[in-house]
Amino acid sequence: MSAVEKETHNGYTHKQKVAELLKAAKLRQTHPRLAVLGALIATNTPISRQQIADTLGDNAPDKVTIYRALECFMDKGIVHQAFLKDRTAYFELGHNCSKTQCHPHFTCTSCKKTVCIKDAKIPLAEISDQGFTIKHQKVELEGLCPDCND
Ligand SMILES: [Zn+2]
Ligand SMILES: [Zn+2]
Repeated sequence: MSAVEKETHNGYTHKQKVAELLKAAKLRQTHPRLAVLGALIATNTPISRQQIADTLGDNAPDKVTIYRALECFMDKGIVHQAFLKDRTAYFELGHNCSKTQCHPHFTCTSCKKTVCIKDAKIPLAEISDQGFTIKHQKVELEGLCPDCND
């Protein structure tokens, strides 16, 4: 993990990282893109569009604009839809994910919190039937989190 990533509490390095990601994806640095990506970098759990808007407060672009920015990031692979919960999509940065596989998400059945399990190693499913091509594997885990597991 790079030094930039470790220092993300600092507003300046957030901005730097946002600019780096946009540059690497060959995307123009527009205000909504900078804001939305900044909100995703500032959190370490997946967040919904509403949470992105809440995080940005008065600075938030309208919902359609947030949605367009997310679509654009997903298209470039820098943001992933982590999971759906109560029909709401939650997004996160696409780092720590390979092309075919994201890290699993663990949802606690007691407190309902969902966390990223970034160090899990899960083999890609093997399908012997012909005609299926796996493009992406998403794993969802359920159980008790450390707080509820006493
Ligand atoms: Zn819990
Ligand atoms: Zn995650």
